[in-house]
Amino acid sequence: MADEALVVIDLQNDFCPGGALAVNGGDEIVPLVNDLIRRTEHVVLTQDWHPAGHSSFASSHPGKQPFEAIDMPYGPQTLWPDHCIQGSLGSDFHSGLAWTKAELVIRKGFRSAIDSYSAFFENDHATPTGLAGYLKERGVESVTLVGLATDFCVAFSALDAVKQGFNTTVRLDACRGIDLNGSVESMLKRMREAGVRLEDQASD
Ligand SMILES: [Zn+2]
Repeated sequence: MADEALVVIDLQNDFCPGGALAVNGGDEIVPLVNDLIRRTEHVVLTQDWHPAGHSSFASSHPGKQPFEAIDMPYGPQTLWPDHCIQGSLGSDFHSGLAWTKAELVIRKGFRSAIDSYSAFFENDHATPTGLAGYLKERGVESVTLVGLATDFCVAFSALDAVKQGFNTTVRLDACRGIDLNGSVESMLKRMREAGVRLEDQASD
């Protein structure tokens, strides 16, 4: 339908097995995501896109290890291995992803001092990426989110999508999670409570 968009979150080499921040089974979702791309009129991709030395990298904070959390001026931030550096092979979309149909690629995390999990707002939850405006101007009312990772970039995108007034669905079978300290369960709960529809397969 013309008022629906599929938003494919960060289906990039570094988040797939063999990548710098590999999500278990991240590559397994590619065929299903491609099927959803074929069946949806509006397709948007996000691409994590960091300059070298980005502030979300543990390597930028002496003495810190990946997956530790620190306080940044905009709030708590999990530190990650260096990943998705602009123009690197790791930042490319998975080679099996049928990305050519995408109308828009939203790049995020490109400012050194701030990370961006959500496709809609940077991690200060205030700086917009422009995606909500784009979708609204195109008449999109419903968004379905898929991709990596369930408990970080997909979840924060879904929470923001609801706040921006979109009917929001996450296809869990087309996502995979990182799961730090129970983060999958806690983010599924937050999404459910916020009004995100969580589906394990197509409802139609
Ligand atoms: Zn990142």
